[in-house]
Amino acid sequence: MSEVRVRIAPSPSGNLHVGTARTALFNYLFAKKNNGKFVLRIEDTDAERTSQAYIDNIFDSLKALGLNWDEGPDVGGEYGPYTQSERFDIYPKYAQILLDKGFAYECFCTPEELEQEKEAATANKQAYVYSKKCENLTDEEKAQLRAEGRKPAIRFNIAKAQKAFHPTSELSFDDLVKGELKQNTDLFGDFVIMKSNGAPTYNFAVVIDDMLMKISHIIRGEDHISNTFKQILIYEALGAEVPKFGHLGMILAPDRSKLSKRHGATAVSEFVEKGYLTDALINFVALLGWSPSDGEEIKPVDAIAQDFRIGEISSSNSIFEYDKLNWMNSHYIKMLDIETLKEKLKPFLAKYDLSELNDAQYTRMVEVTREPLVILSDITDAVPYFFGETVEIEPEVQTEVLDTEVSQDVLKAFAAQAKDWEFEEENLHEKLEVFRGEFKEKGIKPKQTMWAIRAAVTGRTRGADMTATLAILGKDKVLKRVENAIK
Ligand code: GLU
Repeated sequence: MSEVRVRIAPSPSGNLHVGTARTALFNYLFAKKNNGKFVLRIEDTDAERTSQAYIDNIFDSLKALGLNWDEGPDVGGEYGPYTQSERFDIYPKYAQILLDKGFAYECFCTPEELEQEKEAATANKQAYVYSKKCENLTDEEKAQLRAEGRKPAIRFNIAKAQKAFHPTSELSFDDLVKGELKQNTDLFGDFVIMKSNGAPTYNFAVVIDDMLMKISHIIRGEDHISNTFKQILIYEALGAEVPKFGHLGMILAPDRSKLSKRHGATAVSEFVEKGYLTDALINFVALLGWSPSDGEEIKPVDAIAQDFRIGEISSSNSIFEYDKLNWMNSHYIKMLDIETLKEKLKPFLAKYDLSELNDAQYTRMVEVTREPLVILSDITDAVPYFFGETVEIEPEVQTEVLDTEVSQDVLKAFAAQAKDWEFEEENLHEKLEVFRGEFKEKGIKPKQTMWAIRAAVTGRTRGADMTATLAILGKDKVLKRVENAIK
């Protein structure tokens, strides 16, 4: 196998999880680094849990993250189809090869019989492995069972494969990430490779597909390690070349339990809906198990690809620190050029009538409100006062600021003077300077003067630069709001 070919093989039983996104990223980086190919295969053998919406979500999320595949269901390729449910005619042929070679056998056990075996094992406090009851059925016995209407499943004969290719019942391989891994295969039991309904099981379909798609390196989560041992034996039984394997540590929540919904978003699309930038998300995900050689953590994927070495991936679990993601996201927001940011913020401003602002006003609003944004959706609550004729006053702003005598004096003076001002930022800046000066002479602190104006115009005591806010709103709206605040 000279060409590097890697793949990501998600099961569409949910939206694309960040863990799968990380696996996809490391495969993608490995392909880029080695001038290889990155393949997308959809593993939809479990029809009940599969949905087209999840398939679409997987495509969209990977694309949004910039993890474009060279071969896959939509783009095709030499080794398609790339959707398992379209490959069902391929698997029986290989199951037959294993049957012919004696590495597999038909199993006629009913679910009830298997259940009894399991219960007996539990009663004896033993780990359950299939009894191999059907291993040596004669042709007559099989014919008899078929005549009874039983349809066989096909089981892989672990012990036979192990014995044929390894001197002891221990199987080992050199993992690209974790080093040598070993397992006693006696404990596996002869697992089903083809169900009685003719559908392949995961461990079988994945080997056949990876083999036929000429996958050279399989990089996936460590939860698949026990599958890998089984899969190696299937490759060997088929006489196929065994690919190299690399298993990534798991991603844990800050409390070190499995990352799940209760910790926050887990699907890439959920992060996007919350206002995370995919560039930030993918950069963050890359750091779950990998670190840049120069210590510079903010890095676009292309730069990471240059620096990436699979042997340097940490073999231990990584913690998904939402705080760090937030920090990174705010950094990426700061790096966005204004036009891109304006576009990206629009979905989060849907509750406002953006047509109230012309392009220059919208640009300025974004300029003066972007600084504190951690996620894009923070904009929603940061800008209500830029819209509408009137403004909602927070109750404590009313009592603590607007109701005071000082504020009322400030607002009356402001209304009287500002009606003659030109509401252009530079001019407003000068006028407000003078205005504050007049009140300062009366013993009112400049901060207090501005507070009163801000409270009347925005309904809040904190917010965007005041001069810019006044200029964006324009004289009519500002004076109207100030009049409303005067008793
Ligand atoms: N469909 C499997 C999953 O989503 C793929 C595992 C593998 O990479 O082999 O877990």
